[in-house]
Amino acid sequence: MKPISPVQQINHPIFTKHDLTVFVKRDDLIHPVISGNKWRKLKYNLFHAKSQGYQGVLSFGGAYSNHLHALAYAGYQQGLMTKAIVRGEPHYLANSTLSQASKWGMQCQFVDRKSYRLREDKDYLFTLQKNNPDYYIVPEGGSNPHALTGVGELINELAQQVSYESLLVPVGSGGTIAGLIAADNNQHQLLGIAVLKQADYLINHIKNLLPAEAKAYNNWQLLTQFHRGGYAKFSREDEQNIYQFNQATGITFEPVYSGKMILALLDLIAQGYFKAGSRIVLVHTGGLQGIKGLLEQNRLTANLWR
Ligand SMILES: *Cc1c(COP(=O)(O)O)cnc(C)c1O
Repeated sequence: MKPISPVQQINHPIFTKHDLTVFVKRDDLIHPVISGNKWRKLKYNLFHAKSQGYQGVLSFGGAYSNHLHALAYAGYQQGLMTKAIVRGEPHYLANSTLSQASKWGMQCQFVDRKSYRLREDKDYLFTLQKNNPDYYIVPEGGSNPHALTGVGELINELAQQVSYESLLVPVGSGGTIAGLIAADNNQHQLLGIAVLKQADYLINHIKNLLPAEAKAYNNWQLLTQFHRGGYAKFSREDEQNIYQFNQATGITFEPVYSGKMILALLDLIAQGYFKAGSRIVLVHTGGLQGIKGLLEQNRLTANLWR
C-alpha cells in the first residue's frame, strides 16, 4: 500500500542535545479539509455505511469538533447525508466549524450536557436508530472498529517509511491509539498523550476497543499528566512554547491535540525519558481547522496564528 502522507525529520536543539532523531508522520497533509486521524477513522465507516445501503451517517461532537467538520465534508463529497448531535446551544451554528459543516449539508441538533451524556446508552441509541433508519450511527470522534482498521494503515505505511523505536500520538477518545496498538503487533513503544483531565478511565476504554488478540499487548501507555488543565485548556506560556516549536520546525501544531503532544515530548526529553540514539515518530493528527475557532473565541494571540 502506498503511503498517503509523508514522514519528515524535524530538527530542534533539544533533540541534538539528547541525541534523538525525531520524525513527524504528516497526516495533516492528507487532505486540505479532512486531515489527520479523522480521515483515517472515517474511511471504513463511510465504506461500511455505503455498502450497507445507508443514505447517511449520524454522529456526535462538541461545537468545534474536528470529527463533525471532517464528517460533514466527507459526506458531502461522497453523496451521504450527515446529521450531528451537538453538545451546546444553537448559536454555535454560527461558529467557523459548524457554519462550514452546515454548508456541506450537515444537519445539527443541539442538546444540553445531560442529554449528550446519553450518547453511548444502549436504549438511547436504539431509539435514535429507529428514528433515523437511513443513517449509520458512528460514535463520538468516529471511534469504533471500522476506525481502527483505517488508523492501522498508518502503522503499515510507517513500516515502509522509517525505522523507529517510539511513537507519540495525542489521545482524545482513544480510537486512534487503539488502531495503532492493534496494527503494531507489539513492535514499538506507543505513547498516548491524553489531552483531557483525569483521563485514566480511557485506559479501559482503549482496551475495550482493541480486538481480542491485541488486548494483551503491553507496548503502549497512556500518559495522563500532560493535559495542561483539561480539554482545550492551555496557558499563554503553553501557547508560546507551541508557537516557538512551530517556528523552529516549520510545521503547524495546534494547541488542543498535537500541540499538547509536542509539549509532552519536550517535557519527557528534558526528564531524560528517551535513551540517547532513540528514533521517535510523532503523529501529526491534523485538526488545524480548530485554530479558527480558537481565534474566534479570542483564545489565541491573533497575530501569531492567523
Ligand atoms: C480527534 C483528534 C485527536 C484524538 O483522537 P482520538 O481517536 O479521539 O483519541 C487527536 N488529534 C486531533 C487533531 C483530533 O482531531
